[in-house]
Amino acid sequence: MSKYAFEVHPGVHAKLSASSAERWLTCPGSVALSEGLPNVSTFYAAQGTAAHYIAAEEQRGGRMDAMPWFGQTAWVEGHEIKLDAELIEAVQEFLDYLKENERTGDVAYVEQSFTPAMQKLLDKEFGGSTDRVMYRAEEKLLRVYDYKHGAGVPVDVDENKQLKYYALGALLTNPQWVVEDVELVIAQPRCEHSQGRIRGYKFKAFDLLEYAADLIEGANATRGPLAPLKPSTKACKFCPANAARKCSAIEQETQAIVQAAFGELAIERYSPAQIAEFLTKAPLVEQQISAVREFAYQQALHHGVDFPGWKLVEKRATRHWRDEDAAREAFGNLPGALTAPEIRSPAQIEKLVGKKKFGAHAAELVEKKSSGYTLTPVEDNRPAITPILKVLELFEPEAPEQS
Ligand code: SF4
Repeated sequence: MSKYAFEVHPGVHAKLSASSAERWLTCPGSVALSEGLPNVSTFYAAQGTAAHYIAAEEQRGGRMDAMPWFGQTAWVEGHEIKLDAELIEAVQEFLDYLKENERTGDVAYVEQSFTPAMQKLLDKEFGGSTDRVMYRAEEKLLRVYDYKHGAGVPVDVDENKQLKYYALGALLTNPQWVVEDVELVIAQPRCEHSQGRIRGYKFKAFDLLEYAADLIEGANATRGPLAPLKPSTKACKFCPANAARKCSAIEQETQAIVQAAFGELAIERYSPAQIAEFLTKAPLVEQQISAVREFAYQQALHHGVDFPGWKLVEKRATRHWRDEDAAREAFGNLPGALTAPEIRSPAQIEKLVGKKKFGAHAAELVEKKSSGYTLTPVEDNRPAITPILKVLELFEPEAPEQS
């Protein structure tokens, strides 16, 4: 019997899949360049796959309870994944949302494949499945859900290309549904977002016709030897050609960025426009550094590649009690041995008691405090603040008028 709660092995994805739509729609040349390259799963991606697996199993079984998986271990795409409290809580938040936001009469499918319909009606290289699709007949509403386990980058739901692709796939796969409105829902429980950890975006189903035309046009642009390579932060992040260092376009782009930033001019002498351009492009360089690190790690771990001057070691070990009860018995009476119980964060308590019960106390007990400021692209939907210098100018006494 396997020591793992479940095992997930790498599957085959459609060439022009929904999850890579952001990439191939932005950078058509990436499809040919990535052909045959391994889509190496990182540890974090494998964690996400494990979370998806549990969420899907619980929906299919109708139990909607992630707790029984807690403490077990899974084998996912080459990684051993501990099903720890953070992972289980995140999945449970998604399951709770489904329970609260769906009702009797709704029709829902878990991981319904839309490959046959998409390939028959739109393009032979389209395909994939949706985490969950729901249809509510009395509102003529189609809703597609996408669970995202990542904690680092909040994903916007408005006009999200991947989710619109899912919605189109669901619509074509279920032609019996009369749909007027479509709602895209992203559940990203481990990542705060100004629209909430679980956020939706509604639009008219009619708009999907235009999107279908965009997808077909985008797919055609990927074919042929002249398909252009267009580096961008979103497209290059998960591109196999980037991970395998096969793309000359991103190399040229990043070299140009680095040269511009570390050229002969002192930073203070750059114009605001030059600095803004660098800030916009810098993530490309950061991503490429991460991609090289991850590639080297995978090569060393799984293929024994030796990188001169580098070696694989175990991460720094921290000490843990083998048996907490025994440790408490041995040392618990010593002054200061036990930590004082502390209340968990509002987000953790909300997960614990549920949104409804938490909401009844939220206004009275919770306040939002920002830890400072950050410089962000103008597309960010948080309101801009007034810079300190401009605030001071408001209080400056006006110069006396010259007579
Ligand atoms: S690394 Fe970027 S520019 Fe190069 S193929 Fe991939 S997405 Fe396109």
